[in-house]
Amino acid sequence: MRTVLMVAEKPSLAQSIAKILSKGSCTSRKGLNGACSVHEYNGSFQSQTVRFKMTSVCGHVMSLDFIGKYNNWDKVDPAELFSKAPTEKKEANPKLSMVKFLQVEARGCDYVVLWLDCDKEGENICFEVLDAIQPVMNKGIVRDQTVFRAKFSSITDTDIWNAMNRLGEPNRNEALSVDARQELDLRIGCAFTRFQTKYFQGKYGNLDSSLISFGPCQTPTLGFCVERHDKIQSFKPETYWVLQAKVFKGKDTPLTLDWNRVRVFDREVGQMFVNLAKISKEAKVESVSKKEKVKQRPQALNTVEMLRVASSALGMGPQHTMQIAERLYTQGYISYPRTETTLYHENFDLKGTLKQQINNTIWAEEVKALLSTGINRPRKGNDAGDHPPITPMRSASEGELGSDGWRLYEYITRHFIATVSQDCQYLQTTIDFKIGTEAFSCSGKTLISPGYTTVMPWQGIPLEEAMPACDCGDTFTVEEIKLVEQQTSPPHYLTEAELITLMEKHGIGTDASIPVHINNVCQRNYVTVENGRRLKPTNLGIVLVHGYYKTDAELVLPTIRSAVEKQLNLIAQGKANYQQVLQHTLEIFKRKFHYFVDSITSMDELMEVSFSPIAATGKPLSRCGKCHRFMKYIQAKPSRLHCSHCDETYSLPQNGAIKLYKELRCPLDDFELVLWTSGARGKSYPLCPYCFSHPPFRDMKKGMGCNECTHPTCQHSLNALGIGQCVECDSGILVLDPTSGPKWRMACNKCNVVVHFFEHAHKIQVAQESCDACDASLVAVDFNKTRTPLPDNETQHTGCVFCDPVFQDVVELKHATMRHSMHRGGGARRGGRGRGRGRRGNPKKPKDKMAALAAYFV
Ligand SMILES: [Zn+2]
Ligand SMILES: [Zn+2]
Ligand SMILES: [Zn+2]
Ligand SMILES: [Zn+2]
Ligand SMILES: [Zn+2]
Repeated sequence: MRTVLMVAEKPSLAQSIAKILSKGSCTSRKGLNGACSVHEYNGSFQSQTVRFKMTSVCGHVMSLDFIGKYNNWDKVDPAELFSKAPTEKKEANPKLSMVKFLQVEARGCDYVVLWLDCDKEGENICFEVLDAIQPVMNKGIVRDQTVFRAKFSSITDTDIWNAMNRLGEPNRNEALSVDARQELDLRIGCAFTRFQTKYFQGKYGNLDSSLISFGPCQTPTLGFCVERHDKIQSFKPETYWVLQAKVFKGKDTPLTLDWNRVRVFDREVGQMFVNLAKISKEAKVESVSKKEKVKQRPQALNTVEMLRVASSALGMGPQHTMQIAERLYTQGYISYPRTETTLYHENFDLKGTLKQQINNTIWAEEVKALLSTGINRPRKGNDAGDHPPITPMRSASEGELGSDGWRLYEYITRHFIATVSQDCQYLQTTIDFKIGTEAFSCSGKTLISPGYTTVMPWQGIPLEEAMPACDCGDTFTVEEIKLVEQQTSPPHYLTEAELITLMEKHGIGTDASIPVHINNVCQRNYVTVENGRRLKPTNLGIVLVHGYYKTDAELVLPTIRSAVEKQLNLIAQGKANYQQVLQHTLEIFKRKFHYFVDSITSMDELMEVSFSPIAATGKPLSRCGKCHRFMKYIQAKPSRLHCSHCDETYSLPQNGAIKLYKELRCPLDDFELVLWTSGARGKSYPLCPYCFSHPPFRDMKKGMGCNECTHPTCQHSLNALGIGQCVECDSGILVLDPTSGPKWRMACNKCNVVVHFFEHAHKIQVAQESCDACDASLVAVDFNKTRTPLPDNETQHTGCVFCDPVFQDVVELKHATMRHSMHRGGGARRGGRGRGRGRRGNPKKPKDKMAALAAYFV
């Protein structure tokens, strides 16, 4: 029997699709990577009985990266990234062993059906899957088609079966357009980001240069937010005057009238008009007009509109909205949520879709009414040829979907019902008045038929007080007429919804990438999300955009990106050549890059204004070993030390506090040591600022403290203070924390283990000798006469922390973290409260001094 392998984009989708196609009869097992399952059943394919094997990947199998040394920021000139640097596809998540998993399942299969999501990314993943499995599949007859692509828009029986019965082929061009975008973003983004980051590294005290990134789409996105900020900043409010009149007739409540001249910007002119109006105590009705108007039902829902409404009405950010929408799609509640289409095809079963909602009490009445009177054909929209508009595919309740899931589903469903409902009709009444020589008017709306607004009540016509009945020639009494002073107000910061609109209008970002770019500018701290989901640029975001704009406006303006995305679409349609588009675009950006590098000073000038030079920030902390002047401690992230005399910056460990360590100096370079602490109960260790950045010995890496330093004679080094192998991790050594008394502790120099011991001892020293039993360094402890816990009131004892019988009652090996269960063996118990012998026969421990010295001086 032949075997058909089928691959979906996510494990949950594979499960749902297999359930539909096997009519619930499949058997399931876990795949070798633990993340994916395989669902198997027998069925018919190409008029033969076959074994079906349905499984999935977890999104992209591969991701694009540079090869080898081109990933090293220090070894490569970023300009090389445009053409010289080779790229390769690496497994996106090596932990999943996706390629191996696919090959194991594909070996011996005869056909493959690709069930990846039907968008460009999905098409790209199709070819990633094919690249992995084709070498191990059975070779069929040459002319036999063995690769099939299923096209579907929702996880429903009808859609999935239709897809199975009309299999096509994967689209190479669409996949190539994704390859091109990945490569452009990687090369352009990395070149600019690496150059800037290195250029600004350590230059300004309150600037974390690791946050300076450039993205060919991210930067124009940020540009929109900063453009609005600039408008707000340069806005000058203007004062204007408005004539306000209140009139009444009989016992009716007074009407407030609008002035037909709207406003004037000159107070005296305004006063003149007041005087002209005040001639009369009466307002005369000049005309009454009534017009029937309609408020159109919405167009069918596409992705950007869903993101806009979710942000403005539901308070949900685009990234979050997309995640929820995808979950609803995967579970079969809605159709595929990435689409540009706002048009239902002739043969889309609108009625059937609507019928699904008939039992949901929230909108049951509207749905029943629509089904009995007949649904209205949805408005014409745009057909992008990808998927139907976002549509509810089956009924759901709040309990099933969870809070945010339900809110989004409710909106999508209400929107759908609205698109097949009638338009809203209302009567607009306008009454024109004359008071003296000035013309005023007043208008109101009266609902005739609510139409779709019953199901989208937030769009309804507000229940205004009905306009008074009156005819031409009637008169009203003027209650009040006055000149009101007002000011023009500045625009607000962009809302997310407005930003989405701008991106769509300028053709940057697709329905799939808009949420990613918006999320990126927030995550990288270029904008913050304020009340009402308004995007306020940060100082860094503003300076970056201004800097790009000053050097090369095209780096910020959406024009280039939009042109590139048009080219990418042409590749997808098979109308442009992949290689040519790639070469051409890279050539443009390569020239832009060189120009940018040559003009970086103009960007730097802006940085200087906004950020303080490193020499002017920070407070004096420890002395430089070269010039013996105080270096300054810069606390802003990444925290570091700077010697303004030598103009050198030294990195420090992050996420903790730094203080001076007893004015002790490193014997190698004379720099004053500092102490890093992660808090009162955590670990702390001294380090030499110079050695931390410039490791003195071959066996040390950058970023090591004295607790890892293998200096043979230094009194702060691992050699002097190391006690024994870590009780938790494989590579760490427990090192005495000499600053921890009277609550003494030792901490692992690799992991987070902290061990408390000898509380209230007044002195602890690591002895030269080591334990015969476990090889750990012996420890000499001095207790105070009055508080000694030692037997016979002894005050001093030297022994092994782990094995010494006297210490067993004094040492409480309390671990800061829970020991992993696999380490909780009998050994620990045997030694009483102390740790038994090392779990491996030959525990690592620091070499004795002579051996260490010998190692360095041979
Ligand atoms: Zn110095
Ligand atoms: Zn040093
Ligand atoms: Zn050292
Ligand atoms: Zn450890
Ligand atoms: Zn021992």
